[in-house]
Amino acid sequence: MPVEHVETLIIGAGQAGVAMSEHLGRQGQPHLVLERARIAERWRSERWDSLVANGPAWHDRFPNMVFPDVDPDAFPSKDQVAAYFEAYARKIGAPIRTGVAVKRLSRKADSSGFIAETSEGVIEARNVVSATGSFQKPLIPATVPEGGGIMQLHSSQYRNPGQLPEGAVLVVGAGSSGAQIAEELNRAGRRVYLSVGPHHRPPRAYRGRDYCWWLGVLGEWDKEAREPGLEHVTIAVSGARGGATVDFRRFAEEGITLLGRVQSFAEGKLQIADDLAHNIAGGDANYLSVLDRADAYASREGLALPEEPEARIIRPDPECVTHPIRSLDLAALGITTILWATGFGFDYSWMDIDVFDAQGRPRHHKGVSDVAGLYFIGLPWLSSRGSSFIWGCWRDAAALAQHIAARTPVPAPTETI
Ligand SMILES: Cc1cc2nc3c(=O)[nH]c(=O)nc-3n(C[C@H](O)[C@H](O)[C@H](O)COP(=O)(O)OP(=O)(O)OC[C@H]3O[C@@H](n4cnc5c(N)ncnc54)[C@H](O)[C@@H]3O)c2cc1C
Repeated sequence: MPVEHVETLIIGAGQAGVAMSEHLGRQGQPHLVLERARIAERWRSERWDSLVANGPAWHDRFPNMVFPDVDPDAFPSKDQVAAYFEAYARKIGAPIRTGVAVKRLSRKADSSGFIAETSEGVIEARNVVSATGSFQKPLIPATVPEGGGIMQLHSSQYRNPGQLPEGAVLVVGAGSSGAQIAEELNRAGRRVYLSVGPHHRPPRAYRGRDYCWWLGVLGEWDKEAREPGLEHVTIAVSGARGGATVDFRRFAEEGITLLGRVQSFAEGKLQIADDLAHNIAGGDANYLSVLDRADAYASREGLALPEEPEARIIRPDPECVTHPIRSLDLAALGITTILWATGFGFDYSWMDIDVFDAQGRPRHHKGVSDVAGLYFIGLPWLSSRGSSFIWGCWRDAAALAQHIAARTPVPAPTETI
């Protein structure tokens, strides 16, 4: 089979691959995007049916196109998000080849570029941008052995309540996914237990502005590194049913039993850490700190935003927080499903290049790896907190395209007399 040559190969056509294509196009850089499935595939087939964007439509988008037919303050559905990226790719004329998987990527022997072995032949490229996502491989801790009449699934495999067997559900993890799924199951009439670890839970909106706006003006999205000690703190937000602040005490009032972190399993019982009150208090502290910083910002900038003192009212601790369950007998409580909303890891098994650290994370600085011509985009904290989100990867793509252009000057047009 003949070998195809491209200047820059982008692997993956999620939002990051589309953004990368736009910015390389602006730099006049020839490139090709390969996508193993469809544009924005993960939004289509790896997320639950009712998922909506966590940010409002005015925020969770690229700068040059609004969501058609979605109110700017509404939360687009996952299908609307996928359609948005498909339309965007069309609008910019992105050279995307769908249904082509990169099976193996290696470096050319003389280090002048890369060889991509794909499902449709070999492509050589001088530069490669890996845009294969930050949420690649579902992580499920090896706590509960398979079988025993318990269905175990990851949040990326969850679709809707009807998919689960009859009975109670334990949701492990209370970031945005775990919190939203637990609420959905509870509203569908399931008995729900929710294991809550350390988390942040900013107000959905405060003084008439969405938290996305507040985190922007407070400089949170632009932060370049996680604060030490907060590496394992997840963020719980929701745009479901028009959006509301994630309040675990309200969840308890509505019937969900809150638990501390799941620790171990023996003889049909899960041992639960004694950290629920601590984790809930940590979430409150984060919530109140956003209100404090928002108030300080509003007064410093002289913003005439309506006061909202009632936002500071914290509900009383429910029974499950004051008298936490420490041992959970799955059979006795009728728990038939454990839904692990425990996050994702990387899977670069197809990349045969020495560019990973001992934990399997790409070695890079703001997406520029230490292998000449190899780039990463869309990873959490690539250049800032916003990097794995829709608007953040677009910004990172601009910087990476400049780096690629500087490395690959396009010949100036020949002057004619
Ligand atoms: C449940 C959930 C909700 C989220 N909600 C929001 C939100 O509301 N707002 C927001 O800004 N962010 C959100 N995010 C974060 C982030 O925006 C999404 O994860 C987004 O999908 C990441 O886009 P991406 O382009 O970086 O990667 P992905 O969407 O993962 O795209 C990577 C693409 O690469 C393809 N691919 C992978 N390997 C190969 C290969 N070897 N060859 C060819 N193609 C390959 C995949 O098929 C995929 O299409 C959410 C994440 C999750 C998990």
